[in-house]
Amino acid sequence: MNEIDRKTPSARVCPICGKPVDEAFKPFCSKRCADIDLNRWLKGVYAVPVKDDEDEDGERPLDSEAGEPS
Ligand SMILES: [Zn+2]
Repeated sequence: MNEIDRKTPSARVCPICGKPVDEAFKPFCSKRCADIDLNRWLKGVYAVPVKDDEDEDGERPLDSEAGEPS
C-alpha cells in the first residue's frame, strides 16, 4: 500500500475553459468564467427570448384562441 496518488481531490479544472481552478472563484478559474457560467445558467432557467418582437402579433394558423364556440 505505498501507492500514493499525488492527485488531490480538489485538483479540478474550470468547466468553462479548462484552466486550473482558482480558490477564490471555484469551481471556476476566474470571475469571467463564473459570469459565463452564470449567464448560461440564467438563460437555461428563464429561457429568455433574445429575439426581436417580430412575430409577436403574427397570426398563427394553429392558434385556437379566436375559435368560434361550437
Ligand atoms: Zn475558466
